[in-house]
Amino acid sequence: CGIVGYIGHREAYPIVIKGLKRLEYRGYDSAGVMVYDGTSVKLSKTKGKVSDLEAKAKEITTTGTIGIGHTRWATHGVPNDVNSHPHVSNSGDLVIIHNGIIENYEPLKKELIKRGYKFHSDTDTEVLVNLIEEVQKKENLKLGKAVQVALNQVVGAYAICVFDKKKPDEIVAARLGSPLAIGVGKDEFFVASDASPFIEYTSNAIYLEDEEMAVVRLNKPLKIRKIKDDSLVDPYVQELQM
Ligand code: GLU
Repeated sequence: CGIVGYIGHREAYPIVIKGLKRLEYRGYDSAGVMVYDGTSVKLSKTKGKVSDLEAKAKEITTTGTIGIGHTRWATHGVPNDVNSHPHVSNSGDLVIIHNGIIENYEPLKKELIKRGYKFHSDTDTEVLVNLIEEVQKKENLKLGKAVQVALNQVVGAYAICVFDKKKPDEIVAARLGSPLAIGVGKDEFFVASDASPFIEYTSNAIYLEDEEMAVVRLNKPLKIRKIKDDSLVDPYVQELQM
């Protein structure tokens, strides 16, 4: 399973697809991609290989400079197209990719259903993206804050990337128990399970620690915080050997 995200000035889709291929060694049963083209969210996902995803993604417009991609190793819900990531919140605004397990997804899902949320997949991940949406709406929070509040209600393990169509110049990334690296380029950022998807574009990498989250925003300094106590973390940038 693996995660790739891009935000910058290049076409995101080829970077995401190539990155997912580099992460294939981690094993997976499904793959999916989201590209934001400046006005709308384009999504394609399928059971099978990244090459199957490429074939299927021909049906969508894949131009855009923000994108996220995922390879899934199913834990909740069989491997099929619907259970593949990315998952979208009920409003259609929030898009998530997730590696890991949300252990307490059942009570959270019950509560969300009571509040009128509908679920289309059998995944724990779809519960998380709607929990973030519920928190964001109820407390009128920015995406980063909503992700933080939601993650503090979650038991489990995760590497996630979340995108919000209402604020399409940022990606929020967070980790607990699953690896996540951020590549810092010139006017561009990469997020990935390891550095292999971005090593050819930048040698500057920040490895998130457990219980850290990052708001990755175009043309803004990277903000890394502790999910639990909200304290700011000084990003430690490592120079990768090219
Ligand atoms: N628990 C999630 C699912 O089953 C993510 C699995 C993964 O790590 O790829 O969809």
